[in-house]
Amino acid sequence: MAKINKVRIPMREQSCEKRIKNFDSVPLGYSEEEAMAEAKRCIQCKDPICEKNCPVRMKIKAMIREIAKGNFKNAFFIAKEDNPIPAIAGRVCPQEDQCEGACIMGKTGDAINIGKLGAFIADWAMKNGVTEEFHIKEKDKKVAVIGSGPAGISCAVDLRKFGYQVTLFEALHIAGGVLQYGIPAFRLPKDIVDYELSYLKKIGVDVKLNNIVGQNIKFSELRNEFDGIFLGTGAGAPRFLNIEGEKLKGLYSANEFLIRVNLMKAYKFPEYDTPIVCGDRVGVIGAGNVAMDSARCAIRLGAKEVYILYRRTKEYSPARDEEIQHAIEEGVIFKELVNPVRFIGNEDGWVTGVELVKMKLGEPDKSGRPRPMKIEGTEFILELDTIVNALGTKPNRLFLDKTPELETASWGGIKVDENLMTNIKGVTAGGDAISGGATVILALGEGRQAAASIHKYLSNSNENG
Ligand code: FAD
Repeated sequence: MAKINKVRIPMREQSCEKRIKNFDSVPLGYSEEEAMAEAKRCIQCKDPICEKNCPVRMKIKAMIREIAKGNFKNAFFIAKEDNPIPAIAGRVCPQEDQCEGACIMGKTGDAINIGKLGAFIADWAMKNGVTEEFHIKEKDKKVAVIGSGPAGISCAVDLRKFGYQVTLFEALHIAGGVLQYGIPAFRLPKDIVDYELSYLKKIGVDVKLNNIVGQNIKFSELRNEFDGIFLGTGAGAPRFLNIEGEKLKGLYSANEFLIRVNLMKAYKFPEYDTPIVCGDRVGVIGAGNVAMDSARCAIRLGAKEVYILYRRTKEYSPARDEEIQHAIEEGVIFKELVNPVRFIGNEDGWVTGVELVKMKLGEPDKSGRPRPMKIEGTEFILELDTIVNALGTKPNRLFLDKTPELETASWGGIKVDENLMTNIKGVTAGGDAISGGATVILALGEGRQAAASIHKYLSNSNENG
């Protein structure tokens, strides 16, 4: 019997010196030979726990088996059965907490690189022009999907596969939600996002961009026109600390900073003339994926010193391991166990620094992580000329304020039952709009669950006449 290789086939990456000067993808992808070698490490468990740990239940075992045999086309079709955007999910999913976290190989060596194999097979299909054939049995019922982030995408695709006439409304001029405006191109190249999203049109989803539901189209109009609705409006409004100096110039919410950099391509100056102020000394408050993305963008914009300011220690950071490792390699400095007290500015209203207080870790809180506690009398000032606040987000009120009939939780999220139905009949919701900020794969999973709920609801209403 052949000996199983316990060590992962490494993924080639852009060198650190090179990549901090560009926004190109850091990982360079597997070659066909490398992907097959990595796939051959999979022992094809009888009961693959990796699949149980995948929120969209991808058929990981079968996909990897086909890659190992070099049957790339089959592997791609298998990946697409449950995940409409495998190239994207393969790049950004927190696999270490999900499929790879459960991989039996990880107990005695390296877990199979499931995410990168998913991205490989989707990239292979893109390069080779391989797409699935659709056999959709058309239905005459119409469903509206609001928001084109991962939740909206997976809901729209499944509804089309059920045969419904699907119209997707997106507020921005481009589809994709956070995949377009939040996650930088060095982690998620935008040609990949555009290609995977072109699937929506291919499958027959009518994508209406520049349409803000609640602003230029009323929700009541949609309710009259459509038989079912999915709300995948995300959580695009930043949270603030509400401390002194938060209105100073040079202080951004991560959303604004990343939108300027990614969506409005500030990094491509002078081709794109998007104003952005990124000084020499940048402080990013928070330590999740959004904070890592902001810090790594600041490095690429030419900042000399970039700090992650975090009230716990990095092992409790919610960011993906790979992002933390890449950020450190690129020179991002972690200042752990500190919390902002106030922001400091000059007479022209520009930020010049932050007063921080030192923290210590206490007993676990609701999140299971140790509660950060202030150490009195330890305040100090860190001089900075740009500050990015990456403290998390909540749903935008723009839509919710116009739909008072829709029940929301006290924190602002849309309330749903176990089938993702809201209090309004035939209206479902999922993704960050109900969770306040989670992951791409959880949003994809909820989009699929909501599509199944709408299908059940419309099938029952058919039977009842
Ligand atoms: P979104 O992606 O936010 O999409 C919502 C869409 O709805 C937007 O396009 C918005 O314009 C549109 N919309 C809102 N209101 C209206 C309206 N009234 N009418 C029409 N359209 C509307 N997750 C990971 O798994 N891995 C990562 O590495 C990762 N990194 C991240 C980095 C950043 C910078 C950010 C911000 C998030 C990251 N996340 C990551 C989280 C992940 O991207 C989100 O959980 C996911 O995108 C949520 O999907 P969604 O479809 O619910 O919402």
